[in-house]
Amino acid sequence: MKVALVGIGKIAVDQHIPAIRDSPDWDLAATVSRQGAVDGVEAFTDLGEMLEARPDIRVVSLCLPPVPRFDYAMQALEAGRHVMLEKPPGATLAECHALDAAARKAGLTLYATWHSRAADMVAAAKAWLADKALTRLTVTWKEDVRRWHPGQDWIWEPGGLGVFDPGINALSILTEILPDPLHVTEARLDVPENRQTPIAASLGFHHPGGAEVSAVFDWRQEGAQTWEIEAVTEGGTLKLTEGGAHMAVDGSTSGTAAALSGEYPRLYAHMAELVRDGRCDVDLRPMTLVADAFTLGRRVTVAPFED
Ligand code: NAP
Repeated sequence: MKVALVGIGKIAVDQHIPAIRDSPDWDLAATVSRQGAVDGVEAFTDLGEMLEARPDIRVVSLCLPPVPRFDYAMQALEAGRHVMLEKPPGATLAECHALDAAARKAGLTLYATWHSRAADMVAAAKAWLADKALTRLTVTWKEDVRRWHPGQDWIWEPGGLGVFDPGINALSILTEILPDPLHVTEARLDVPENRQTPIAASLGFHHPGGAEVSAVFDWRQEGAQTWEIEAVTEGGTLKLTEGGAHMAVDGSTSGTAAALSGEYPRLYAHMAELVRDGRCDVDLRPMTLVADAFTLGRRVTVAPFED
C-alpha cells in the first residue's frame, strides 16, 4: 500500500522512514513537509496539494506534534484517506473523539498509535499479569529532555504535554498490561517558571483491587535513563525496563532488544491489518489519564529551564 508521510522531523527520520522502507506492506509514495524531503520520494509542501495530486495514495501517516495534528487529520479523512496518528493522538480528547467519529462515519481506518505498547516484552507482561492479584505498582520514567527533544519548543507550549510527552508512553503500557481500569486521584506538576508545561510530575491512581499505584516522570535525569514499571503481585514481582523491551519476573530476565527497536515495524504491520480489515483502533485511555492529571494536578513552580 502507498503511504504519504506528513511532518519530516525527528520521529519521521528516526523511526517511520526506516520502518516503512523495511516493510513488505508499505511503499513511501510521498512526503508533505515545509522543509524536509526523502531522496527519491515525491515531495509536497502542502497536504491539500498532495491529496489532490495523488488519489492513488490511500493512507496518510501524521508525524506532527499534537497541536497542529487535528486539522491535518480531518483534512485527510475528509479527502477519503485512512489516517495513522503519532502519539498522543491529538491536543485534546474532544478532537480525538471528533476524528474517531469522522473516520467511522466515512468507513475509513483511524489508528491512534501507541508505540511503547509495541515494545518487545509488553505482550508477555500483559499475559503474566492477567491472573495475578496486584498489590503495588510503580512507574519510573526519567530521561534527559535535552537529549531526546533538542530545540523542540512545542513541547513547552500549551498542548505540548511537557514531561507527559514521554510519560504518556508509560501510561500507554500501563493501560495495556493491567487487567483492571485505573484512574488518577492526585497529581503534582512541576512547571519551570519560564515554561507552560511540566518538567516533572508525580501521579497517584485508584486501583479497583486496592493496589498502591503511582508514577514519577522527570525530564531532568542526566546519565543513565530510566523507563521502568515494577508490579508487585501476590504471585511474584514483574519488572519491565528499557521502555518495555526487557522483562524480569522475580529477577529472571527475558528480552534483549534495545529500547524502541521493533516498535514502529509493528505499528505499520498493524496499520496494514486495520486497513485490510476496514477497522479503527483508537484507545484514548492513556490520554484520559494525562488530561485528568492536568485537571487535578497541583502546580509547583520550579527553576527556569533553558535548552
Ligand atoms: P519534531 O521533530 O519537532 O516535529 C516533527 C515535524 O512536525 C516537524 O519537522 C515539522 O515538519 C512538523 N511541524 C512542527 N510544528 C508544526 C506546525 N506547527 N505545523 C505543521 N507542521 C509542524 O517532533 P518529533 O520529535 O518528530 O515528534 C512528533 C510527534 O512524534 C510528537 O507527537 C511526539 O510525541 C511523537 N514522538 C516523538 C518521539 C521522539 O523521540 N522525538 C518518539 C516517539 C513519538 P516539517 O518541517 O516537515 O513541516
